[in-house]
Amino acid sequence: MKSTVRALLQRGVPSDFANNIASIGYTLDKLKQINTEKLVEMGFSQETADIINKEKRPPIPSNVLNKVLYESNYSCCICKKNKEIIVHHIVPWEESKSHHEDNLVVLCLEHHGEAHTKHELSLNLTRERLLHAKRQWLEEVKEINKNLILDLPKPAFSFFDYFNINRLCELFEQRGINLCELSNYDYLFDAGFINKDGSFKPILKWNVSSRDIKYYWIGFFEGTYINRYIKDGFQSLLKKMDPIILNDIWNKSQIEALITPGVFFVVQGAFYFKNISGKYGGIGQQTKGYRRANGIRIEFEFDSWYCNSSSSKSHLSGRSVITAYCISRSVIKSENELIVFCTVLAIGNGFENITNGRSFISQYVYKDEEEELDEMDFDEHEIE
Ligand SMILES: [Zn+2]
Ligand SMILES: [Zn+2]
Repeated sequence: MKSTVRALLQRGVPSDFANNIASIGYTLDKLKQINTEKLVEMGFSQETADIINKEKRPPIPSNVLNKVLYESNYSCCICKKNKEIIVHHIVPWEESKSHHEDNLVVLCLEHHGEAHTKHELSLNLTRERLLHAKRQWLEEVKEINKNLILDLPKPAFSFFDYFNINRLCELFEQRGINLCELSNYDYLFDAGFINKDGSFKPILKWNVSSRDIKYYWIGFFEGTYINRYIKDGFQSLLKKMDPIILNDIWNKSQIEALITPGVFFVVQGAFYFKNISGKYGGIGQQTKGYRRANGIRIEFEFDSWYCNSSSSKSHLSGRSVITAYCISRSVIKSENELIVFCTVLAIGNGFENITNGRSFISQYVYKDEEEELDEMDFDEHEIE
C-alpha cells in the first residue's frame, strides 16, 4: 500500500492526498483504469490525472525521488516546514524533459502554488530563487543531521562499547583531527601510550600487564583515559562527516538510492552478535554483527578484543539494541534481501533514539509494504 504513495509522489501528486488515496485502497493500477475526468472529481489535478491515466510523462525514477526527499528532510525548502509536500520541477518537465535531481525541489502546497504563479511581485518564486533556496536548505539539513548524531551519546548512562581504532586513526589523519587538543592527551603522552602527534604507540608494546589486556584491549587503569581520548576524537571526526540516518529510511528502495559504497551512515536498533573466531581472549576475537528487518540486512565484522569494557563485550553478544556508525563497503541485492556490508567505526549503547518525532512524512511514505519493522530472526545456522 505504501508503495502507492511513492508511485503517486513520482507522478507529482501531493503527499497527504496520495496517502489518503492509498489508505482507502487505491493502487496505481486501479487508478490507471479510472478516466481523467473521474480522477479530477476525486481530487487529482488535471495535470496529475493526465500523468496517471495517459502517462503524459514518465514518473520520476524512485531512486531520484528518494534522494531528493531525504536530502530535503521531506520538507519545503522555502518555509522548511514538515507539512504536505509536492515534488516540483524547477524547469518545467514540458520544457526540460528532465527528472534529474538538480531539477527537482520539494515544496509545500502553498509555495508550490507560488512557484507556478506568474505575477509581477518581486517575491515571486523564480527558478533562480528556488535553486538558491534549495541549495541553502540542503546544507541546513546536513547540519541538522550532523548535530543530531553528535548529540546521541548525551544520556549519562550511554557508553561507546566499541571503537574501530585502526580505521578511526586513519580517518583522524585523513580528516585532519588535531589529536593534541583531545582530552587526556597530556596524560596519555606522559604515560607513554601515544606519540607526540597524538597517534598511538604500537598497542602490543604498551607497558601494561598482559593479564590486563587478555579479554579486551584497555582492561587496565589508564584504559578509561584512552577510551575518553578516542571518544573525543570520534566526536571531532563526526563534525566533519555527513551522515545518512538509516532509522528514517528503513526500506529497500530508499537504502538502494542512498547507501552507495563509501557512504557514512548511522543506524539504531536491534542487532545480533556472534563470535565467529572461536577465540575469546587476545587479539582476533572476530565477531559478526547484523541487523535484519524488512528484507534488509546491515552486516559488519569486528574484533571484540577492541571493546571498551567487559560489560561492552557482553553487550555485543547475542541480541542488543545499539547505535552503529558505519561506512558502507558494498550493497548486494539477493532474491529476497538487500545486504549492506560495511565497516563499523563505533558502536554505542544507551544512546538517544533518533526517530522520535522526526520526518513524519517519511514514516508513511517509506515504511514499506511489510508492517513489522523489528522482526528479527536469529538463525544459528545461517551465520556459519
Ligand atoms: Zn513552503
Ligand atoms: Zn510544480
